[in-house]
Amino acid sequence: MDYQGLGVAPIISAQANSTPLGGCTLSEGVIAAMANAARSHVDMDQLWRASGRFLAEVTGSEDACPVTGAAAGMAIAVAACVAGTDVLRIQRLPDPGDRPHEVVLQKGHSISYGGASIAQMIALGGGRIVEVGAVNETLRDHVAGAVGPQTAALVYVTSHTHAVHKKGVSLDDLVAIGRKHGIPVIVDAAGESDLRHWAASGADLVIYSGPKMLGGPTSGFVCGRAGLVAACRAQYAGIARPMKVGKENLMGLLQAVREYTSVTEEARATAQRERMTALAGRLDKLPGLSAGVEQDESGRLIYRILLDIDPAEAGCSAARLATEMTTGIPAVYLRDFRLHLGQLEVDPRALSREGEETVVRRLEEVLSGSRDDAEIAR
Ligand SMILES: *Cc1c(COP(=O)(O)O)cnc(C)c1O
Repeated sequence: MDYQGLGVAPIISAQANSTPLGGCTLSEGVIAAMANAARSHVDMDQLWRASGRFLAEVTGSEDACPVTGAAAGMAIAVAACVAGTDVLRIQRLPDPGDRPHEVVLQKGHSISYGGASIAQMIALGGGRIVEVGAVNETLRDHVAGAVGPQTAALVYVTSHTHAVHKKGVSLDDLVAIGRKHGIPVIVDAAGESDLRHWAASGADLVIYSGPKMLGGPTSGFVCGRAGLVAACRAQYAGIARPMKVGKENLMGLLQAVREYTSVTEEARATAQRERMTALAGRLDKLPGLSAGVEQDESGRLIYRILLDIDPAEAGCSAARLATEMTTGIPAVYLRDFRLHLGQLEVDPRALSREGEETVVRRLEEVLSGSRDDAEIAR
């Protein structure tokens, strides 16, 4: 069975490894690890524990619990904070009973990922979200003032793409508030590139996505304090059951993490910047486009191409160009977080060499086509 057999055409993602575009393509090493895993039965509890030890070592945490993805990780982490390892409480979730279940979150961190909201994932784990502050300004006092006997956890979202970080409460301050009141801090580090930094911040649980940065299949993990991670694993007898990670994806994740950590971030970034600089040089020559390379706005070592579209010269707006690119063969998805500024981006993370050629060819086709249209209209 393949995609073509179902009449579903493969696409090119210049938008990074996003869930709606099929996550990540996998290295041969990861594919082999998944194929090997598929050939035998295994005691899953033993496998979860052993993989937890591996991921703990890599992240500098006490323990880790593999999950299907970062969204599942949030539901499970909250469930762990609400129900602990008490089997009756675990099986009663998402009803928290008389347990503390308020989850305090800065308003600017109350995000959605492709439609699903973090508030819903928190609710799935038995939590009730308490948003504090304003979208663009939250004070330490807003968070501290919301903490009380019903508080189960504090949540922090690292992403600068999704969350608003200007004038927000820092993770250090959040950790200090958590420590003072004995309340765990959960960090959503879904797309982060640094596997040790967030765990070292003093957070109690840190959540990663497998495909976003690490090159893994649909998967993720929660790492952190041993007691809470054990409570995460215990949720597989409760709300985590319908979001269990299978042995193939789990072994794929571990292999991906091993490969990811065998290259330094600097080496990966240098290679990426060189690739993107060369590609930007080619795209800059296309009519109506000016292309340059920019580092990720949150300081991660990701180098993207920023495409400024001049609608008069290009013969179409940035929005029209993005749509045209997704309707061709193959469909090409450009990063569109700056569409409101008339800009598009090429993200290197999901883009192969072959994919780069397709981006150039399709942009050439669309831009020459739309210029012809514009001339005919004149
Ligand atoms: C993508 C994303 C998620 C969801 O990750 P999955 O692994 O797809 O479940 C959660 N949080 C943030 C900040 C994300 O960017």
